[in-house]
Amino acid sequence: KRRRSDPASGTRRRRGPLDRDRLRRGARLFLAGIGETDLGRELKRTPERVADAWSTEIVAGYRTDPARLLATTFRAREDGMVVVSAIPFASVCVHHLLPFRGTAHIAYLPDGRLVGLSKIARVVDALARRLQLQERLTRQVVECLDASLRPKGAACRMEAEHLCMTIRGARQKESRVVTSAYTGAFTRDAALRAEFHRMTVRHAG
Ligand code: ZN
Repeated sequence: KRRRSDPASGTRRRRGPLDRDRLRRGARLFLAGIGETDLGRELKRTPERVADAWSTEIVAGYRTDPARLLATTFRAREDGMVVVSAIPFASVCVHHLLPFRGTAHIAYLPDGRLVGLSKIARVVDALARRLQLQERLTRQVVECLDASLRPKGAACRMEAEHLCMTIRGARQKESRVVTSAYTGAFTRDAALRAEFHRMTVRHAG
């Protein structure tokens, strides 16, 4: 029996409506912590804007069940590797509440079942728009594919710039974080991983 995984389970208790009023009050308190207690002129609507941006965009992924995005699959005989590369994503680091953004490369080896390619990008988006660790995000993407599509294997590599690293001094300005996660055949087969790598790494020049 194959392992069932529920990539959403770790975040379920934080679900529910994103509380705009609390976000607004929180932003006000945050500004007070910086020393901005008098919200005149340019800061007047800032708590409102912060609450808007966080609840409707930045962590709006909490409202989407990624498994549901992959609910509609179709039968197909194709068994070659399906690769979707360079999917842009933006997320927020759970340690500093600062953004990290980059690209995701995803592959799966179908076992009689395919899914619309645009759905894969939407899964990345739904899982990225939460408070995340890049490592966990990468793992959640493959586990979501694995649970919904039951492929022979799934792979994900993410490359991102983390503002919490690059904002602190010139030394780390160019650093990127690269993470990968595999299931099934990709875990067992080094040649398959190498093929995935070849198909998704952009060579300079
Ligand atoms: Zn961070």
